[in-house]
Amino acid sequence: MNKEEKQKLYDVIIIGGGVIGCSIARYLSRFNLKLLLLEKHNDVGDEASGANSGIVHSGYDPLPGTKKAYFNVRGNKMFDEVVKELDVSFKRIGSLTLSFSDEDDKTLLELKKRGDENGVETKILSKEETLKLEPNLSKEIHGALFASSAGIVSPFALTNNLMENALDNGAELLLNTEVTKIKKKVEFYRVFEKNGLFFDTKLVVNAAGLYSDKIQNLVGESDFKITPRKGEYFVLDHFDNNFIKHTIFMCPTKVGKGVLISQTASGNYLVGPSNDECAVDDVSTDSLTLSEIKKTALKICPSLPFEETIREFSGIRPNSDIDDFIIKESEKNPGFYTVGGIMSPGLASSLAIGEYVSELIEKKLNLEINKNFNQYIRKHLSLAKLGEEKYNELIKEDPRYGHMVCRCEKVSEGQILDAIHRNSGARTIKGVKKRVRPGFGKCQGTFCEAGIAQILARELKVDLSEICYSDLGTNVLLKAHKGSEND
Ligand SMILES: Cc1cc2nc3c(=O)[nH]c(=O)nc-3n(C[C@H](O)[C@H](O)[C@H](O)COP(=O)(O)OP(=O)(O)OC[C@H]3O[C@@H](n4cnc5c(N)ncnc54)[C@H](O)[C@@H]3O)c2cc1C
Repeated sequence: MNKEEKQKLYDVIIIGGGVIGCSIARYLSRFNLKLLLLEKHNDVGDEASGANSGIVHSGYDPLPGTKKAYFNVRGNKMFDEVVKELDVSFKRIGSLTLSFSDEDDKTLLELKKRGDENGVETKILSKEETLKLEPNLSKEIHGALFASSAGIVSPFALTNNLMENALDNGAELLLNTEVTKIKKKVEFYRVFEKNGLFFDTKLVVNAAGLYSDKIQNLVGESDFKITPRKGEYFVLDHFDNNFIKHTIFMCPTKVGKGVLISQTASGNYLVGPSNDECAVDDVSTDSLTLSEIKKTALKICPSLPFEETIREFSGIRPNSDIDDFIIKESEKNPGFYTVGGIMSPGLASSLAIGEYVSELIEKKLNLEINKNFNQYIRKHLSLAKLGEEKYNELIKEDPRYGHMVCRCEKVSEGQILDAIHRNSGARTIKGVKKRVRPGFGKCQGTFCEAGIAQILARELKVDLSEICYSDLGTNVLLKAHKGSEND
């Protein structure tokens, strides 16, 4: 390797900017190293990490002794501190897993036993105790398993803010960069993207979610196979935040945790998911599956107001045939790490996985501490928390905070500008939506998307016709129209 090649050599390249890749990047940025994350989409968190239930599971469900159990329980505990550092909304609302039969009662006892072994506090509640906590639940229930440590988090904010913090601390990110080939050289790996550009690195971390088996194949290994499984959901408006206060689960079965009803971190209600095998990129929803979800949800909560539905969506689980997380350095290809098949509870486990993998790599490369590491990101402004007086002062200082772009979710131009001009900032309409929520409300972006496109074009200094909804090619306009700000 010549001097110039040595200068360009990365210590670590992470493939995949889901919550797992971003968490590994954030924890690795605590050390002095040259670090690059490659993501094929136009933003981080656009696959499983951006379309899930957002539950920080307590950890009573995974089988004791599995990686899922260990990382879930450790990860859950890390949330209180990390969400303050990363300014992510998170609430420990607790969960109730319901029993509807004698068989379910037995399952709850089994889950309680597992919880005890995993070190998770749970309590079996009678029907009366459960209904006292949640009076809108079905009167047909037998009782429930209560886990106070379960929480809800914004998966978008978590993934993005982990990446922002990694970038603040010196990591690099390349979007629209799909890895298609990896060559093993004597001292390093050469990672190619689809247009032939390549990057050299001492270590590779495969955090490619649904494609983690394919990335492993690129170095001639095939230890596991991903079987994508789709979960479809209803999203209900934030109509009453006392209607259901806990995350409500059915008893889990062999195929998964079943349909849940829960508030999201932003106060909407989420109902779903289904669990069906699907093509790796099929994020469609269908009325038959949704009507089955509705039937189950109405069994749980007969008065659930489905007329408040504002959206349906689906996410795809990167389930593997190993039935546990795969987190290991390859024996055949030292320096190649797979962190794949990270199915549920992957979100809940993400912080612990990031911490663990970063420490494996620290030891491998004998890394020094990054003395300038700052675990905090710059706080986001919450207009709701400011109070009227302070908000008026802010508008006097910067009138763009008084210009409401999204009336449903009350998002000002000032907040959108902030979301664009951060590290890992938004560059698409979906990117703005995921960061500060315009378009998540009742009108689903009908009234605000055109304005957001104009702000993006102005701030990114590109023509309006270049603004995409999400990935490259999803341009919202074919041509800037007369009268637009970019004429
Ligand atoms: C319906 C559903 C509900 C869920 N609910 C919960 C829950 O409530 N709680 C919980 O703890 N977990 C939940 N999960 C699981 C959780 O979402 C996942 O475990 C987690 O998001 C996995 O993160 P990841 O980073 O491994 O994968 P992903 O988020 O899929 O990220 C992988 C990234 O790699 C990128 N990539 C792939 N191939 C390449 C390539 N060749 N080059 C460059 N980039 C590439 C992808 O574009 C993607 O951004 C749920 C999942 C689903 C789908």
